[in-house]
Amino acid sequence: MPEQTATAASLYVHVPFCAHKCEYCAFYSEVPNGDLMNRYVDALVREMGMVAGDLRPRTIFFGGGTPSLLNLRQWEEVFRAMEALGLPGAEEFTVECNPATVSADKAKLLRDHGVNRISMGVQSLDESLLERLGRVHSREMVFKSFDILRRAGFDNVNLDLMFAIPGQSMAAWRSTLDEVTAMQSEHLSCYEVIYEEDTPLFHQLQAGRFSVDEDLACDMHDELAARAAEAGFHQYEIANFARHSGGRMADAPSMACRHNVNYWRGGSFYGLGPGATSYIRALRTKNWPNTQLYCAEIESGKRAIESSEELPPLRRAGETAAFGLRMNAGWPFEEFRRVTDFDLREGWRREMDDLAGRGWGRRDATRFQLTPLGMRFADAAAEEFLR
Ligand code: SF4
Repeated sequence: MPEQTATAASLYVHVPFCAHKCEYCAFYSEVPNGDLMNRYVDALVREMGMVAGDLRPRTIFFGGGTPSLLNLRQWEEVFRAMEALGLPGAEEFTVECNPATVSADKAKLLRDHGVNRISMGVQSLDESLLERLGRVHSREMVFKSFDILRRAGFDNVNLDLMFAIPGQSMAAWRSTLDEVTAMQSEHLSCYEVIYEEDTPLFHQLQAGRFSVDEDLACDMHDELAARAAEAGFHQYEIANFARHSGGRMADAPSMACRHNVNYWRGGSFYGLGPGATSYIRALRTKNWPNTQLYCAEIESGKRAIESSEELPPLRRAGETAAFGLRMNAGWPFEEFRRVTDFDLREGWRREMDDLAGRGWGRRDATRFQLTPLGMRFADAAAEEFLR
């Protein structure tokens, strides 16, 4: 039976507030004000109550936006509601933090309520590049916040980085990589800057204020892969690296983000909060990406759903194939069949042969995976699998 029929084991919560909009960001977020944040927390708690009966979360992820902007009282309200609804006890409970909004009190409160993983948006340790990106934090705040998190008992911390930032030299990237790997976090997520429409960075690019150097971006990615490996990380997805302990490694290292692995492996999940997407039993829904509207809908007893789409099984299987190829382990054929009820060897034989012929893919008796060359063109390779 496909996994999608089971009760959802993953919960994502979108916290839609940011102190300042970063220059590259196209996520839905707004500048916080106290009343709206309180109203949002009340609505979120009500929305949790609407889905709790269909949810046994093994992974929980509070992302944003900036979840660490919620104050202690607001976090307490969220945790009280989760406890009353029987939602704690996840194996992995991640909260995204901005280095400017981490305090010892908040870190302790999160840790005391079962949060066991922090994802911190560092992006760069170069002050001028942080400013270029419109980040609200300084490099010193990164070190200070990391120290606070360690003292509060967090032994699973991800650091987010960006490369190919306009104006970033290879020397600046190496320096950030040196300093970040010396911090000895358990996980790294490293993304090349992308130029989303309607962001200030996109408009600056359009206006010719800088140009994109693809060769440098490729070299930076190679440098990242080499330095991360030297520092003891295992790459398990295009942009994700984690440490491993405990013997033989299966498809991902032991400190991989299980929440994201569930996405890449086609699992079900509930997404709560403005703009969040859910995928439950072949139905994809998206909440209104507007906090006032989201709150008003929830207050009137509805789920705040802007759109929903029932995915035909073959289309969903194609998307699942495409997503899973982002992982270095690719797709074990049997696992793909268990998740989707389709067999890659039958429905996607031509695509796999074609990618193998180009040197982008590799196939053996048990699985198909992208080669390092194929990983560079993963989006184009994945597109071939869509139906
Ligand atoms: S902190 Fe994150 S979500 Fe908020 S504006 Fe910056 S990149 Fe976007």
